[in-house]
Amino acid sequence: MPVKRVCPRCGQDWVHPYRFKADGAPFSLCTECDSLWWPGEAVEVAHARFLDDVVAERLGVEGNPWGDLLWADVIEPAPDDSAVDPPHHKRTR
Ligand SMILES: [Zn+2]
Repeated sequence: MPVKRVCPRCGQDWVHPYRFKADGAPFSLCTECDSLWWPGEAVEVAHARFLDDVVAERLGVEGNPWGDLLWADVIEPAPDDSAVDPPHHKRTR
């Protein structure tokens, strides 16, 4: 089970689970400094990528990939395990 981590680059936000809308590819993202980590990579400054670079690569463009695009056109928050109750595992209080 992933544990909430503070972004090691900026220390300003949690590293959130996100995914690409096009193919559902998951990644971890700090929405403060746009640092991105792929699954299986240590969430450390040494492994951090920039969201813009990754999106540009995926879209096959150079430089700023956004143009008319918004974050919501390309990526979305992945369902957060800690915020969702799976139907087969209802909580009782
Ligand atoms: Zn950050």
